[in-house]
Amino acid sequence: MSLIKTPGEIEILREGGKRLAKVLRMTRDYIKPGMTTREIDAYAEKLILDFGDTTPFKNYQPRGARKPFPAALCISVNDEIVHGIPGDRVIKDGDVVSIDLGLTHRGLVTDHALSVIVGDAPQRVKDLLRYTEEALWKGIDAAKIGGHIGDISAAIEEVQVKHKYGNVRELGGHGVGHGVHEDPYVPNYGRKGTGPRLQQGMVLAIEPMFILDGTEDIRQMPDGWTIVTHSGATAAHFEHTIAFTDKGVEVLTME
Ligand code: MG
Repeated sequence: MSLIKTPGEIEILREGGKRLAKVLRMTRDYIKPGMTTREIDAYAEKLILDFGDTTPFKNYQPRGARKPFPAALCISVNDEIVHGIPGDRVIKDGDVVSIDLGLTHRGLVTDHALSVIVGDAPQRVKDLLRYTEEALWKGIDAAKIGGHIGDISAAIEEVQVKHKYGNVRELGGHGVGHGVHEDPYVPNYGRKGTGPRLQQGMVLAIEPMFILDGTEDIRQMPDGWTIVTHSGATAAHFEHTIAFTDKGVEVLTME
């Protein structure tokens, strides 16, 4: 499997990314207090199937996972960072809900995530979401053909350090397209000018995850998937899929 996608493959990913952005936006707007995370997952899955596309996260079982992921959408609430399994949990006013979704269009995968506050929350929680998203955009801005993966990593880390958030060091961005996770790995910390070269035809998912209280320890829940902050502090997560094309860097997961 080549890390480099053809212009034809990028064209398919562009359409898939557009569809995924629409589905994730509609899912974000659908979330209301009193709803279970299972209902939110069912809504997102139906939108994808209605497009005639499929859900690459459902039944995904990477190496090391004890069981396949059972749903279309990862829903992670408050101290849950990523990979939350939809179920009976009821969304409450003030919850920070992170939704992470993949979409397979004509055999090719795009990946996109965001965090949203349901109702109202303290200013420091609003800031966490704002600056985690800002870090995503700084990372994207730092991505240039001929540059290095470390340029993206350093740009993300700079925002994290400035705001004294915790960085999730065990998880990061990745190549995407033929599968859910491909090389190269894109850490959310690092040094400019280091790591693999960024080349035309690469497609990467960039995804900072920050923790409000500045701690960095994480753990996995007994369900084998959900990753939570060890301290119990709130986390935020934003992700886009980007492509390196002859026109430069393009964000694919946009409407
Ligand atoms: Mg991802």
